[in-house]
Amino acid sequence: RRILLTGGNGFVGSHILAQLLDRGFSVCCAVRTQAKGDKILIDFATQKSQIDIAIVPDIVEPEAYDATFRNSSFDTVFHTASPFTYVSGGEANTAESNNLQFLEPAIKGTLNLLRAVKDHAPTVKRVIWTGSCASVADYECLVSDPPRVYNEIDWNPITWNEAVNGEQSKAYRASKKFAELEAWSFMKNEKPHFDLVTLCPPATFGPLRHSIPSIRDLNESNARLWKACFDSSKDAPVPYIPVHTYVDVRDLAMTQIQAMLVPEAGNQRFLVAARQFSFQEVCDILQARFPLEQGERTPLGKPGTSSLPPGAYSIDNAKVRVILGVEFRAFEETIVDVARCLLEIERVE
Ligand code: NDP
Repeated sequence: RRILLTGGNGFVGSHILAQLLDRGFSVCCAVRTQAKGDKILIDFATQKSQIDIAIVPDIVEPEAYDATFRNSSFDTVFHTASPFTYVSGGEANTAESNNLQFLEPAIKGTLNLLRAVKDHAPTVKRVIWTGSCASVADYECLVSDPPRVYNEIDWNPITWNEAVNGEQSKAYRASKKFAELEAWSFMKNEKPHFDLVTLCPPATFGPLRHSIPSIRDLNESNARLWKACFDSSKDAPVPYIPVHTYVDVRDLAMTQIQAMLVPEAGNQRFLVAARQFSFQEVCDILQARFPLEQGERTPLGKPGTSSLPPGAYSIDNAKVRVILGVEFRAFEETIVDVARCLLEIERVE
């Protein structure tokens, strides 16, 4: 089996790559520059004979992926490449051009890929697309009575106008929603020879599989965890962040592999969430398990309670468990493994 993976140098993509390589698959990683490809080969040095690199400089260009598909034949395509880095101080940013930096690569990157597979890759049977619960939950109504429980039929009601003119986080969420909607429309209108699976994870945490020079280079989701729970002070409040559910990156990667292997997954959307959590829970684990390193730096808050407001939304994960057979690891394991990884990065930087 030959696989094309986009975003293989990122947080989520590198875990998908790791699990594919461990199972013996050959993977072609499409990245923006040769330097990013070379870094993958270094991070996966012992398995580099299973890896090819394809350079796709700009996924917004209409023919971005054509040469990649013309030059090789693949069975499965995983698309994870999509912007998910907020520029600091950018929450107040309303500049349309900046928001389009989220929206265009997400949407055009997806459509250019699907078009290229349709036109140039007759051997591809399935495209597995990484979405987000950002395209599912209504962020204007995160807390309600009774609390919302989202499932696969739900869509974030955010409009294009709100995305273009709002904060970066809105542009990001809308980029995931509109890209996914476009992908499903493509399937309906173009009736290509392959099927599509979309996987929508919430906040994704876990140890890194790719190398980074410094904690400052952390991916967005782990960076938020670091700021809220690791790099604070024991007297600081546990922050409220509008993130109520999580998945471990290794479980998300395993779900991606299942999405490739399980025939019934074809043309289905899955929410890939382990369960609800609160940042107080993270702080409790860090205080208990890393007292020397984190005792003074992790907010104490109110141990043993939830820092989520009553009525906080959650996610129903029955579909992914039943159809893809996914089991999620314990939250404590995720947080302990993240802590070991991040504290080591901080130590050597
Ligand atoms: P990373 O920032 O670690 O990785 C993002 C990847 O996308 C990198 O490979 C990056 O390549 C690529 N990318 C970003 N912008 C562009 C662009 N304009 N053109 C080409 N490639 C681009 O983030 P994650 O690994 O966390 O995110 C991966 C996917 O998972 C995204 O689709 C994201 O929406 C989704 N996701 C992540 C969640 C999380 O909590 N982490 C939660 C839900 C969904 P480069 O190095 O060249 O920038």
